[in-house]
Amino acid sequence: MTRCAITCCESYDSIRVYSAIKEIIEHSDFPDVKGKTVLLKPNVLSDNPPEKAITTHPSVVKEIGRIVKERGAGRIIIGDSPGMQTGSFRPRLSGLMDTASDLGAEIADFKDNPRMHECDGFRFPMASILDSADIVISIAKFKTHQLMYATGAVKNMFGLIPGLNKSPMHLKARTPESFARFLMAVYKESHTDYAFIDAVEGMEGPGPANGTRRHIGLLMGAANAYALDKAEAVIMGYRSVPLIKEAEKVDKSITECSYPLLSPENLILSDFIRIPEGRKTTVRSLFIPNLLSFFGIHHDTRPFPEFDQSKCRKCLKCAEVCPAKALRLKDGRIHINKRKCIHCYCCHEMCPFDAIEIK
Ligand code: SF4
Ligand code: SF4
Repeated sequence: MTRCAITCCESYDSIRVYSAIKEIIEHSDFPDVKGKTVLLKPNVLSDNPPEKAITTHPSVVKEIGRIVKERGAGRIIIGDSPGMQTGSFRPRLSGLMDTASDLGAEIADFKDNPRMHECDGFRFPMASILDSADIVISIAKFKTHQLMYATGAVKNMFGLIPGLNKSPMHLKARTPESFARFLMAVYKESHTDYAFIDAVEGMEGPGPANGTRRHIGLLMGAANAYALDKAEAVIMGYRSVPLIKEAEKVDKSITECSYPLLSPENLILSDFIRIPEGRKTTVRSLFIPNLLSFFGIHHDTRPFPEFDQSKCRKCLKCAEVCPAKALRLKDGRIHINKRKCIHCYCCHEMCPFDAIEIK
């Protein structure tokens, strides 16, 4: 049975992070990296300073890279593609450019010549650097996610789809369940060998970009990213999340693992601010969708994004990323066409000024 290693790490001090990563590796099924080309894939949703807890902390990436080097890796590559990436990938604010230079690692730009993949009924482009990596390591961040409730090691591999190619995928997979299936296909094609979650400082509330930083004090690792993500969801206090539900439908034993160090059941954060699991059930919420589906009309009860015009700087990033073309600037305000909106929450994720709420 696969082993999922969870250990305490109270700060990003390099000595602490190094020894926690070592402990995790010794108590789980870390791949042999000797002489191999290793791709490290942190979460760089957008290039932000580490204190915001939006991105994987550079200290975690650096100490993993250091250990991979000590174990004889031939070449180390660090890469991701932020959701709004248009130019070259230069993650300076998040500290990853310096990390790469300290490690003697290369920075990969996933936008360069992506290759089309087909898997389980989905077709999508992925970074071509995958083809030259022998070992792929996901280094995710412990964060909530408005659509999927939590973002973890499996979803982190969505970043292999370059920049603005990501949001149109929501048109092909419109519900959390179908999007979970899509993420599973992306993960399968990524051939990830091992996964970490940086949970020293995580994010609660309306993640993955506009939530609140929350001290968790943990680092986590496993060869089985589904088991790792399930442990994360348990610690966050969810009964379940769409990704794990769908994965377990396909393979009931997919998240089975042992916990040689700490067990997630003993780490549940009872006051963690989660994304509400479904809307309140009322007579209206039960009656209207059933009535409409009787007439063959799809009715989505999920909330719409709401725009705080006092915070909005009219940068139009939300309109640019919206796959349904549901947003436009009119009379100096952002307007939403609710008939077009597919509730993907990409706008919320990409708004740099926290001007969008999902209520
Ligand atoms: S992304 Fe945010 S700040 Fe920019 S236009 Fe949209 S709501 Fe306004
Ligand atoms: S308005 Fe926002 S939630 Fe609705 S489809 Fe566009 S990006 Fe998605």
